[in-house]
Amino acid sequence: MPVFVDKAKIFIQSGKGGDGHISFRREKYVPNGGPDGGDGGNGGDIIFKVDEGINTLADFHYGGKYKAENGQDGNKRRCHGKNGADLIIKVPEGTVIKEAASGKVIADMSGDNKEVIVLKGGHGGNGNMHYATSTMQAPKYAQPGQPAIELEVLLELKVIADVGLVGFPNVGKSTFLSKVSNAKPKIANYHFTTLSPMLGVVDLDGAPGFVVADIPGLIEGASEGAGLGHEFLRHIERTRMMIHVVDAASTEGRDPLEDLEAINKELANYNADITQKVQVIAANKIDMLPEGEDSEIIQKIRDKYEPLGVKVFAISTLTGKGLKELLYYVSRTLSEIKTEPVTFEQEFFPETMARGNDEAFSVYYDQDAAEYVIEGPKIEKMLGYTNLDSEKGFMFFQNFLKDNGILDELEKLHIGEGDTVRMYGFSFEYYKNVETMPDYDADEDDDFDDEDED
Ligand code: GDP
Ligand code: MG
Repeated sequence: MPVFVDKAKIFIQSGKGGDGHISFRREKYVPNGGPDGGDGGNGGDIIFKVDEGINTLADFHYGGKYKAENGQDGNKRRCHGKNGADLIIKVPEGTVIKEAASGKVIADMSGDNKEVIVLKGGHGGNGNMHYATSTMQAPKYAQPGQPAIELEVLLELKVIADVGLVGFPNVGKSTFLSKVSNAKPKIANYHFTTLSPMLGVVDLDGAPGFVVADIPGLIEGASEGAGLGHEFLRHIERTRMMIHVVDAASTEGRDPLEDLEAINKELANYNADITQKVQVIAANKIDMLPEGEDSEIIQKIRDKYEPLGVKVFAISTLTGKGLKELLYYVSRTLSEIKTEPVTFEQEFFPETMARGNDEAFSVYYDQDAAEYVIEGPKIEKMLGYTNLDSEKGFMFFQNFLKDNGILDELEKLHIGEGDTVRMYGFSFEYYKNVETMPDYDADEDDDFDDEDED
């Protein structure tokens, strides 16, 4: 039998976008052809998809990295790079995907949410064929592909059951499940409880059936993380109602009234919403009570809980007494509870993660012309709406070059005092220490011509 795993941590990584290509047409009799560098392909996405055939997260138990394919780089002769293949990660229904560091929900794979793109692949970069303009016939700039993004995610499988069985160990939860459903849980008279939620389908004649989950490990201190309790409390969040099982005969010396209080307290400590769920008490093992359901203890439980609207059923999972009444009551109650499944809202948005490649420009030294060249769509755009004849406009443009790290790039290339810098038909002499305007506000004045000094 495979180990039941309901929690796993994995790395996911989208594909990088392919880089745009820089090349020029080479044809006979055409010595200086135009730019013909093609675009890079898009990187593959990371997609999570519900697979009805999977019930556990066992495939992810060993962690690992799940990576979509990179886009291929563009090529000469306007060749577009191939897009990288998406990676589809198949998970069971009810898997909640969370960002590992913050625990924030990225997607809840339940209900209609059968397929979700969690990480988009990087866009492929434009080849230099896009950057030819009237003033720049031979652009040596091509856009780099967007980088991949990587994320560590936590996968959590919440059992999707209508009813959760809660109660201390050995009160008879597993026996109950085996009696009323098709499930075959281990029944044992010792304090090691099964470590995975067991699901069983209850079929009823003439009434709707339902799914019951035996949620083991619920012990005192669970809400503070004692033992394995916390892990299993998560499962209860998704159920629509609870059957609270107690040992009414105190076969192990437990007091059923104290147990009811202790467990309700654990549930409330973990999540106050859980206490809003409809609860039914199954006072079990009445075959061990000489007076059966007329025993004083049963009456005490009724007196305390029925005024609170919690129905109490005296049952014996061994003899089957009281089971039918309980099951039909549960079926009826479920049909009265509104069926909206509990889903988790998205709290973490991977698409807002920085891609870190806004440097849509390139800076290089043109050996033949002995000039430094700055190219790129961002530069061209900025030149388009700046009046370089106005002193203010020129200052503004200089600030733009500085703020975007372009001056640093020139320095890295060891530009010298008075060297020539070329941008889209404009040539400048470079001086290292010039005054810049720190407080320029574009809203105050958008027409630089007015500010011209003669
Ligand atoms: P769980 O830990 O709550 O799942 O409890 P189990 O179902 O494993 O039962 C613990 C012990 O109680 C087992 O020895 C069962 O045979 C016994 N048991 C369960 N239900 C009844 C019952 O109705 N009457 C009696 N006499 N014993 C029961
Ligand atoms: Mg059990």
